[in-house]
Order: sequence, then structure tokens, then C-alpha cells
Amino acid sequence: MASGAPSPAAVDALDSRVWPRNCVRDASGVMTVAGVDVRDIARDFGTPVFVLDEQDLRSRAREYALAYREAGASMVFYAAKAFLSTAVARWVTEEGLGIDVASGGELAVAMRAGVPGELLLMHGNNKSEEEIAAAVDYSVGRIVIDSFEEIARVAQAAAKAGRVQPVLVRATVGVEAHTHEFIATAHEDQKFGLSAQGGAVEEAVRRIAKLPSLTLVGLHSHIGSQIFDASGFQIAAARVVALAQRIYDEQGIELEELNLGGGMGIAYLDSDDPLDVADMAMQIGDIVAKECADAGITVPALAFEPGRAIVGPAGITVYEVGTIKPVELDHGLVRTYVSVDGGMSDNIRTALYGADYTVRLASRSSMAEPMLCRVVGKHCESGDVVVRDAWLPSDLAPGDLLAVAATGAYCRSMASNYNFVPRPGVVSVKGGDVSTVLRRETIDDLLGLEPTT
Ligand SMILES: *Cc1c(COP(=O)(O)O)cnc(C)c1O
Repeated sequence: MASGAPSPAAVDALDSRVWPRNCVRDASGVMTVAGVDVRDIARDFGTPVFVLDEQDLRSRAREYALAYREAGASMVFYAAKAFLSTAVARWVTEEGLGIDVASGGELAVAMRAGVPGELLLMHGNNKSEEEIAAAVDYSVGRIVIDSFEEIARVAQAAAKAGRVQPVLVRATVGVEAHTHEFIATAHEDQKFGLSAQGGAVEEAVRRIAKLPSLTLVGLHSHIGSQIFDASGFQIAAARVVALAQRIYDEQGIELEELNLGGGMGIAYLDSDDPLDVADMAMQIGDIVAKECADAGITVPALAFEPGRAIVGPAGITVYEVGTIKPVELDHGLVRTYVSVDGGMSDNIRTALYGADYTVRLASRSSMAEPMLCRVVGKHCESGDVVVRDAWLPSDLAPGDLLAVAATGAYCRSMASNYNFVPRPGVVSVKGGDVSTVLRRETIDDLLGLEPTT
């Protein structure tokens, strides 16, 4: 055994913190999700393929809806950018969530799923006039104002439609949170929203108050993603509540709603330890209540926008192993490059953010000695890595299936056609049945984009 290697049993195990709730090995050692053998999915739908555990996703949506309502939220929106299809839009709304959309495309999917407008919130730092008109015409419940230009644009669209559009103003509070850390600065060097410092938000509120086709509901703040504890929310809530207090003192406007965004973290590795859903909700609720009490303002209704935490843990990616190449490193170490039939086109997060993932041999169980591996894709780019450091059984062979955990969020939704590779399909599994969520793209789909001569 190589030094530092985990045991074969550890390399075979499916930790319940990381894998979907209905993902287990069956009696013969094959990975199953909701009773479906991953080999059957691979055979019927091809690889790579995303597999969503519907009940897992629904249960997380339900837990967020309940926990955050308990903590004072009037609405919890699912952040569609994590992954959206009409099936997912229906599941999350059936479980009590609204949907946060950030483009005309995401809005169109929610509309096709029949999600009522009042359950939708629209984001975006550069919404087009068409996107704004589509949102206003569909009577979306909230549009988040992200710039001064947008105040006029949304007001005009609403006036044209004969509607009064409820809006929030997005404030950047100078907090950037990730896992157990956050950075707090006075000024934020980023493109979203209006600075909570220097009076920009107050000025936006003043302008909105004068426009009869807009009604100001409250403020919005989103501080980061993959956040494991409530410490970042402490500073953010203090700053946004101070802002609400200034708006009340100066303009006599009492804000009804405070949307604190998303960013609740999930476990990608068994060593990851995000706060439990209910604990996080309660801590944030307590923080806001205390800040409001200190500021002497009424506690507004809260709203949240978790994305990753709803869909991320519910999804896995199944790949087929193509080539296996041991590469000698210095000091006599060997790293085995395992190439799979996808890569950065279906999971850009490793290359983009240095993200870590858990990978397992899925088509069978193995008690062979673990070997140190790097799971890489098929693209013409050395940075095309799916899992940078992984232990896999040393009897791994071409044709074996690998599964990567927690790929439900920000993988298919960020997928590309790099190298003219068709994007993978997405299937959902429930009670032993498989359904297509998105079919696999074909090369003909891609060729069809060119004009025919
Ligand atoms: C990305 C984003 C979210 C969702 O973030 P998660 O980390 O997936 O929970 C919510 N709100 C806004 C404004 C975002 O940009």
C-alpha cells in the first residue's frame, strides 16, 4: 500500500454526507440510485450522464422551505442557475419554494413549467429590455434592481404593461463569504448591485419611490457561495439593517422584506462539515432579529435563494473509463491518469475554481489496493481535470463506470460544447424508475446550428 493510502473499504464506501440519499451499493456491489443500477442508466442513456435522485432533491427543497420559514422567511427561492429544467421547476415549487431566475432563458423554463409569476424573482446585472418586459408581462413577484439605469427600464416596462412592479434593490455590503471564512471590506470591487456605502442605495430608493409603476419591497444582499457557517451573514445583516434604518430615518420608508440571497454550502468531500439546514436558518434568523432590535426597526420578512444546497447533493455524474495511464513522478511516486468520456465540458468547476470532488468505482465494488489517481477528461487541455486527487482501486479497467458525487449544481448548467462535444443528458430516478430530464445532445444538434447551403 502506498503511504497515506486509505483502506480499500474506505475507497469503496459511499458516505451519506456526500452521495444522494438513495444512492447505495446493492448486494453485488453495484451503485444504485433510487433502486436503479447505474450500469442500466449508462447502457440506456449513454455516458457521461447526470443522474438526479428526485426524492433527495425534493426532500432538500422541503427542508429549506420549512427551516427558513420557521426562521422568519416569507419566501425561499430556488436559484435556477444551479440547474434548471421544467421537471426541477415543478419539483421545487411543489415542495414550497419559489424560483430565482437570472435570464430570459431561465424565465422561459419556469414559464413552461407553469410556475406562477408571483413565485418568481428576477436577477441580473444587465437584464435586457426584452428580459425585463417578459418578466413584467408574466407578473413576476420580484425584480431585483441592480443599477440606476434599471430603475427607469423596469419602470417603463411596467408602465407600458399597466402594472405596478414590486422591486428590491440589490445592495453590496462588502462581505465576501466562502466556507468558514469571510472577508469584510468597506467597498466591494464587483459588478453586482449598488454599494451600501456612500448613499447609492438610498438614492435608488428615493427614485423608485417617485415612480408610480414601481413599488419598493425591500433590499437584497448575496454574500457568496459554499458557505458553511453563519459568521458572514452576521456582518452582512448588520450592514443591510443599518441601511434599512437610514432609509427609514431619512425617507420614512419602512422596508417589508430583506432578501439575504443564497450560498448555503454542501459536502463535496466527507471531510466537509456545513452547518445543518435548520441550524443555519435559525442562526441567520436570530442574527437579523438581534440587528433589527439594536437598530430599533421592525424585523422585516426574510427571503433566501439557495441553489447548490437544493440540487447539488441530489446529482451525480456517471462516466466510463477510457484509458488508464500511470505517470511516474519525482521521488518514485506514481500518479495514474484515468481518462473518462467527458470532462471540463460537463464539469468546469475543478478547472475554474479548483473544486474538489469525491469519485467512486460505480459499476462494481472492489477491494483491490487503492492507487493515487487523477480523473481527467477527454478535452485538448491539460487543465481538463475532473477530480485532481482521488484514490481508486488498482484493478480499475477501461469500461468500468465511475461516479462523481454532488454534481447536481453548476455542472450541467455550466456545460459547454468545447471540442464539439455534445452536452450530456440528465435523467431522474425514483422508486426504481428512470425518466429523461434533458436528453443528451447529439452531433446533429450542433451541426444544425450552421446554416445549410
Ligand atoms: C448564485 C446566487 C444564488 C445561489 O447561490 P448558491 O451558492 O447556489 O446557493 C443566490 N442568489 C444570487 C443573487 C446568486 O447570484
